[in-house]
Amino acid sequence: MCGRPHIGGMPALPSRPDRWIETRPEGLYVRPGDFYVDPIRPVGRAVITHGHSDHARSGHGAVLATAETARIMAARMGAAAPSTQALAPGVAMAIGPVTVRLVPAGHVLGSAQVVLEHAGCRVVVSGDYKRQADPTCAPFEIVPCDVFVTEATFGLPVFKHPPAEAEIARLLDSLRLFPDRAHLVGVYALGKCQRVMALLRRAGYDRPVYLHGALIALCTLYDELGCDLGSWLPATGAAKADLKGQVVLCPPSALSDLWSRRLPDPLIVAASGWMRIRQRARQRGVELPLVISDHADWPELLATMADTGAGDIWVTHGREEALVFAARQQGRRARALAMVGREEDDAE
Ligand SMILES: [Zn+2]
Ligand SMILES: [Zn+2]
Repeated sequence: MCGRPHIGGMPALPSRPDRWIETRPEGLYVRPGDFYVDPIRPVGRAVITHGHSDHARSGHGAVLATAETARIMAARMGAAAPSTQALAPGVAMAIGPVTVRLVPAGHVLGSAQVVLEHAGCRVVVSGDYKRQADPTCAPFEIVPCDVFVTEATFGLPVFKHPPAEAEIARLLDSLRLFPDRAHLVGVYALGKCQRVMALLRRAGYDRPVYLHGALIALCTLYDELGCDLGSWLPATGAAKADLKGQVVLCPPSALSDLWSRRLPDPLIVAASGWMRIRQRARQRGVELPLVISDHADWPELLATMADTGAGDIWVTHGREEALVFAARQQGRRARALAMVGREEDDAE
């Protein structure tokens, strides 16, 4: 399974990562180091790929993550884990006999792949990732490995994400076309919200962006961490007339609730990879669906498996069957890990 010679000239040990990495009800367990990656239940020691709630749970004894992810977790949970340690990208750290590194995943600010090395074998746990450029986070880095543990949120050939810039241009076109309508955009609070704001700035949009209250804490944190989102204002408290023709961001759940009715003739927009499915957009009353995703689309999933050169592909969550099949067609061994607790997130 692992043909890589042992670093340091020691004899290669017969290493089979499926003997030292296990799927347990708590999550992916690295036995020689006695830690979990993105556990869904409280554990003694966790390595966390990024701050989304299906990966970063509360209640762990010790947490290892990038500094940004640690800050995001503290902001979302009110307090950090009792023992939170930040590990800078690319820096190696030993946990027992396992060497751990965090490498950018290009998903949201602070997101990292977890690179595990043990007994001459390298396993990369991607967490969630994308290959498209994102002004709010460091780009995905390819790490050659023996085993690549991948997500498969958009693991069907139908999912192809257009360039996000082109989708933002459609939003700006609509603002020009309907200058009296508030453009209410449903965005996930961590990552999508700030990416949409940064993309608007790059496209030359310089008016303040109005924010639903649920988005303010993380935007404040992004500002503090040096991510330039331009000027923004709370939507709550703004006069109805002032919101005419403005961009108003809110969590997807607020698109259809009472909150949106205070806006002047709102035009309902949503920014999500799921907007590729027009039926979903229609069901949710979305007039302007923007296909902007923080996950790899189908071509990116296939390209990334090939780029890592991994002989083995393990699929954690999403559309496992199709990706397992495609990996085998590439000549790789592949299996679904059947992880529990990673619900498909409509909004991400
Ligand atoms: Zn995520
Ligand atoms: Zn996820």
